[in-house]
Amino acid sequence: MFTGQTALITGSTSGIGLGIARKLAAGGANIVLNGFGDPAQIATLRAQIAESCGVDVRYDGADMTQPHAIEQMMARALDRFGRIDLLVNNAGIQHVAPVDEFPLDKWNAILAINLSAAFHTVRLALPAMKKQGFGRIVNIASAHALVASPYKSAYVAAKHGIAGFTKSVALEVAELGITVNALCPGYVLTPLVEQQIPDTAKARGISEEQVVRDVLLAAQPTKKFVTVEQVAAFTAFLCSADAASITGAVLPIEGGWTAH
Ligand code: NAD
Repeated sequence: MFTGQTALITGSTSGIGLGIARKLAAGGANIVLNGFGDPAQIATLRAQIAESCGVDVRYDGADMTQPHAIEQMMARALDRFGRIDLLVNNAGIQHVAPVDEFPLDKWNAILAINLSAAFHTVRLALPAMKKQGFGRIVNIASAHALVASPYKSAYVAAKHGIAGFTKSVALEVAELGITVNALCPGYVLTPLVEQQIPDTAKARGISEEQVVRDVLLAAQPTKKFVTVEQVAAFTAFLCSADAASITGAVLPIEGGWTAH
């Protein structure tokens, strides 16, 4: 499905991004992995995906808070593959705290990684996509791009921001064979969610078990976590030729959360 194409997925050493990288590689795309982690584990991941899918897998450790590092990553990817067909802006972090106690460094990092990084990758990928008359951009937003929760002001602001950014860019490139969409997952049990359970318990003064049952899955009518594989499959569909008419869409995959 993606043979001969190149996919760059930010934040793909873990969780949803890694699932998306595996899925696009299984479809035949060459891959640029990005994100933090243990170098030996990342090297193993890279070799394992390359071998099982028969594609070229590169790793770029660019820090998504640093515009210059993002510029270098995009230049290296274009230099190596000559094209970026599928761009998935997935890197994201979370911090849970009341707004009047929200640490400034956390606010700035969340806005930089979850929102501004996508501006940089998109502005740097578009010239090549325009030239080839084809591109697929998928921004991994969140149900928090559509509705809010308390104590997540920075995350909710960044995710609502990425929804607006998605629509605006989609309109700019709609006639050029390039689609731009945002996916809005509900809770997926990845390290990002696992890490916020103790903080949420502290902020609300409840146990960690209560956080899972009464906070995380309370809003998700299916009462099940969304899976990494489901988000990856939806992303792959948006990257496919069949999804050419889907653009500027902010699409829920959240077990019915925003139907409330
Ligand atoms: P995760 O913590 O498992 O993975 C995050 C990835 O981003 C990792 O590869 C990490 O190394 C990378 N990353 C973090 N900071 C970075 C930086 N400064 N530069 C480069 N890479 C960086 O998280 P996840 O749950 O897989 O989340 C992925 C995306 O999905 C995020 O944008 C998140 O907001 C979104 N999302 C997650 C959920 C969920 O429930 N897990 C729900 C909705 C949306």
